[in-house]
Amino acid sequence: MRPACASLDAAALRHNLREVRKRSSARIMAIIKANGYGHGLVWVAQTLTEADAFGVASLEEGLELRAAGIRQEVCLLEGFFEAKEIPLILSERLTPVIHEAHQIAALQRSRGVGPLDVWVKVDTGMHRLGFRPNEIGQVIADLRAIPLIRNIGLLSHLASAESDSSPATLQQMSVFNAIEAGGLARSFANSAGIIRWPATHGDWVRPGLMLYGASPLPGQCGPALNLRPVMTLRSQLISVRQRKKGDAIGYGGDYRCPEDMPVGIVGLGYGDGYPREVSHDVSALVLGVRAPIIGRVSMDMLSIDMRAVAQAQVGEEVILWGQGLPVEEVAKAAGTIPYTLLCGLTQRLPRRDLP
Ligand SMILES: *Cc1c(COP(=O)(O)O)cnc(C)c1O
Repeated sequence: MRPACASLDAAALRHNLREVRKRSSARIMAIIKANGYGHGLVWVAQTLTEADAFGVASLEEGLELRAAGIRQEVCLLEGFFEAKEIPLILSERLTPVIHEAHQIAALQRSRGVGPLDVWVKVDTGMHRLGFRPNEIGQVIADLRAIPLIRNIGLLSHLASAESDSSPATLQQMSVFNAIEAGGLARSFANSAGIIRWPATHGDWVRPGLMLYGASPLPGQCGPALNLRPVMTLRSQLISVRQRKKGDAIGYGGDYRCPEDMPVGIVGLGYGDGYPREVSHDVSALVLGVRAPIIGRVSMDMLSIDMRAVAQAQVGEEVILWGQGLPVEEVAKAAGTIPYTLLCGLTQRLPRRDLP
């Protein structure tokens, strides 16, 4: 069988949730949208038994969690897209975010039976989803008048929390704090807010990326924040050949060997989700040593410079990110963020529990 896989470390995932608890006394809505950031929606939810709630992007994901026996609150972060989702939201006890007037109108027309808890989304400056602050009083009054609605919370999202000097976060905080809404529960902070802005924690924090062991802060990797990588992307050397000085490696022949040297071929490529866009200063780990990736990444393979690990043979394990090699490093070399790499693994790549 092809040796490429993503191994998943349940203990690391639970450790990272405990790290959130150390940083905040708020309740935790673990964000597991996009298939648990690529780790597997149900696997993440079943591993995080200590989470107070889960956040997903759609009814489909919420139903998958309920079908798997998950009992915690499940928040639909974009609410419902069509009124016909409401009966399932009610029967499966899901908690939608309400951010548009058509959703309120649909709830007013619904003849379903509650109770239904909702979060009202406030746009405090991200300018993506949510009601304007001056609309919130009316929105809450309208929702309170709908008999099936029980608890209402107030939720907003930070746009620039990863930068500690940004006036945008202070501005968003002052807008959110100025909203008078009785004693409604409040939720504001994503991973960057949890780490960098304790004043945003409120009643519920919403960690995503940090649960998976990666850092949302530029220039800082998960281990520096005492987070442990949950996913390790692995494969093996499927060929090792001695190349001559001047030999061109792979498609386009962009890389030429500067001297006679061993070149290894790793059985993993962009068809598995490894970014083809990586620059030349990125490495893989072989025998715990960094071996630079050279030439273009192919669909099923990539090449490495094995001068530092000349003793490694066909069959030796290669780590592309995870334990010992933060995904943040690969993301930086690919001109992207760790979120896209974790979410971007393809269907064919098997996920395996660490033994
Ligand atoms: C994705 C998401 C989060 C989690 O963000 P991270 O940066 O991964 O911690 C929190 N809240 C909302 C509304 C989200 O969509």
